[in-house]
Amino acid sequence: MAAIIMDGKALAEKVKGQVRAQAEALARTPGLAVILVGDNPASRVYVNGKKKDCAQCGFYSEEYALPAETSQQELLELIETLNSREDIDGILLQLPVPEHLDEQALLHAIRPDKDVDCFHPYNVGQLMIGEKGFLPCTPAGVMRMLQEYGIDPAGKRCVIIGRSNIVGKPQALLMLRENATVTICHSRTQGLKEECLRADILVAAAGKTGLVTGDMIKPGAVVIDVAMNRNAEGKLCGDVEFAAAQEIAGYITPVPGGVGPMTRAMLMENTLLAARMHG
Ligand code: NAD
Repeated sequence: MAAIIMDGKALAEKVKGQVRAQAEALARTPGLAVILVGDNPASRVYVNGKKKDCAQCGFYSEEYALPAETSQQELLELIETLNSREDIDGILLQLPVPEHLDEQALLHAIRPDKDVDCFHPYNVGQLMIGEKGFLPCTPAGVMRMLQEYGIDPAGKRCVIIGRSNIVGKPQALLMLRENATVTICHSRTQGLKEECLRADILVAAAGKTGLVTGDMIKPGAVVIDVAMNRNAEGKLCGDVEFAAAQEIAGYITPVPGGVGPMTRAMLMENTLLAARMHG
C-alpha cells in the first residue's frame, strides 16, 4: 500500500492561522527584522517568503537588504540597534552571508531573546538541557508534523542522516526529548543502508539527491525528507527517491510541500513566543 503523504503545506497554513489568532490577542504587534546581505537568489526567495508569512500572521516586518560588501562592523551596529528596539521581537540573519563576514560572531551578537532561528549558544544550550524556549525551526517543524499525524516517537528507532547544527544535531535532541532511540549518520558513516533499514522514523538531511533509495527503507517506516536539492533538470527535490520510497514507507513527506513550509511556520511561532516574552 502506498504511504500516506504528510502535507506540510496544509499544516503550515493551519499553524500560521493559529499564530495569527494568538497574535491578535496580544497588546502589541509582534515584529520581525530580516537581514539579507548580498544578492544570493535563493536567499532572496526565502526572505520574500518570510515577509509574506509575517503579513499572513499579522506581524510587523522589516527588511534590511544590504550590499555584499557590507562590513562586519556595519552589521554588528545594525544588530545592536535592532537588539535595543522595543518594536522588534525577532532578528533573523539570512544565511549564508558573504565569505568576508564572520557568521558565527554575527549570530552570537543577536540577543538570545530575539534569536528566533535558535542559533545562539544560549538557546542551543537551553535546547540541549531540555529547557523551554525557542526551538530550531526545521527540526521543530518535523516534530509538529509527526504530532499532527499521530506519530509518537517514544521507543521508536529514529535514524537521522546529517549532523549539521541547523538540522541534524537539533533534530536528534528533539527526537530524544520525545523518547526515541536516536542514531545520527553522516558522511563518514559505514553501512548507511543497514542503519536506515533499522529506522522506524528516518530523517534525511544530507543534501544529496537520490541518497536514500527504496531498498534502504523499512516497510511501514515514517520517512521525513528535509533536503532541498536541485536535480539535473533544476527541479526542487529531496534526498529520498520519492516514487520508490512511497511504495514501502508508511508515511512520507514530499519535496516541495513537506518540511519547507513547516520551517517557515515555526519561525512565525518563535516570533510570537518572542513577542510574548517581551510583553
Ligand atoms: P550541511 O551540508 O550542513 O550538512 C549535511 C550533512 O549531511 C552533514 O552532516 C554530512 O555529514 C551529511 N552527509 C553528506 N553526505 C552524506 C552521505 N553521503 N551520507 C551520509 N551523510 C551525509 O546541510 P544542512 O544545512 O544540514 O542541510 C541539509 C539539507 O537540508 C540541504 O538539502 C538543505 O537545503 C536542506 N534544508 C532544508 C530546510 C527546510 O526548511 N526544509 C532547512 C535547512 C536545510
